[in-house]
Amino acid sequence: MIIKPKFKGFICTTAHPDGCAASVNEQIDYVKKQPHVDGPKHVLVIGASTGYGLASRIVSTFNCGAATIGVFFEKPPGGNKTATAGWYNSAAFEENAIDAGYYAKSINGDAFSTDIKNRVIDLIKKDWGSVDLVVYSLASPRRTHPVSGETLVSSIKPIGESFTSKNIDFHKELVSDITVAPATDDEVRQAVGVMGGEDWEMWVQALQDGNVLAKEATVISYSYIGPEVTHPIYRDGTIGKAKESLESSAQKINGLLHKDGGRAFISVNKAVVTQASTAIPGMSLYMSLLFKVMKEKGLHEHCIEQIYRLFHTQLYGTTPTLDAKDRIRLDDWEMKPEVQQTVKKLWEQTSTENLTAISAVDEYRNDFFRLFGFGFAGVDYEKDIPSLKKIPSINE
Ligand code: NAD
Repeated sequence: MIIKPKFKGFICTTAHPDGCAASVNEQIDYVKKQPHVDGPKHVLVIGASTGYGLASRIVSTFNCGAATIGVFFEKPPGGNKTATAGWYNSAAFEENAIDAGYYAKSINGDAFSTDIKNRVIDLIKKDWGSVDLVVYSLASPRRTHPVSGETLVSSIKPIGESFTSKNIDFHKELVSDITVAPATDDEVRQAVGVMGGEDWEMWVQALQDGNVLAKEATVISYSYIGPEVTHPIYRDGTIGKAKESLESSAQKINGLLHKDGGRAFISVNKAVVTQASTAIPGMSLYMSLLFKVMKEKGLHEHCIEQIYRLFHTQLYGTTPTLDAKDRIRLDDWEMKPEVQQTVKKLWEQTSTENLTAISAVDEYRNDFFRLFGFGFAGVDYEKDIPSLKKIPSINE
């Protein structure tokens, strides 16, 4: 099969196995070159196949030397369809980990379900006994509630009034306005049900009830705040309410872990191009401007640099620096006043005519295609290759 990107807007329905492997290899090479972090030894990553979760898995193994179990929800290849990128990423991750002598197993299924939680706990009991770091990095548009059976949908909407923002079509490099109608109360409830903290709490409770959390275990999830221009759609909108819920769950989980010396953290991370973030109106323009400014100032990071910095400067061998709401702030460079002021000024000036000159829209677009394994030097995209690819630990 010769695999080309098939995309519409922020969705790409094909993925390239060799390109995804190149992406994983780049991230592995980066963390191997960084100073060793004396970190966790048994790591569970929930949402491990792409974005921040994949980076967490890579840092754990290829810098800290940890065994990992990864949970994700990805489509295997079949018929004339490629697998999803997260499937190929996970295949490449496991192959590399096994070659280097590390334990790596994956479970593909719905992390919101009780069944997947039980399968993970059984695997930890069988293979490890306990886990000392749990990374919760899910981003999902829906969740079937394990008790009520209701399927909740997470919409990305403002609350109270409509939101109109500049937006870009990053394929055609066009700037236009986008208006999003406000969420109903029920849409807010559903977004919180999907992306809020309830499932994270359920995971930690289940791991604790199953007796598989090590003493002094660390549990972490990721949040985002961002600039004022995106507040109506993000931080003050439906997803912001969900993030408030996630952040308050960290306090509750801290209470659960406290007696065994465990700790729960929220890390507020930088805006990066992932499958989750490309869906947020206005974010593609904001990131195109942000990347330009951060690159010029030598501050730009992708998921892998962020997560290495998290492990190296916050989680291990040091006391984390927390903000007034007890959160780690890996978005500190993004939120520097000099970065934000420049981005704001550029945002106000942006038009279709000057977009390529004042932003890094090309970098944004490259990052988008790279999510699906396209655009890597050294990969022959004209080559006929099998789309079938097994993840070593999964029988699908
Ligand atoms: P992503 O889309 O790259 O990854 C999502 C992961 O969740 C994938 O591994 C996917 O397989 C998994 N997943 C989704 N639904 C699942 C389900 N039902 N069962 C099992 N696995 C499932 O997302 P990301 O951008 O890396 O986001 C991860 C976290 O980081 C989110 O909490 C997000 O809000 C946060 N964050 C993201 C950014 C950003 O700019 N992307 C910034 C700060 C914080």
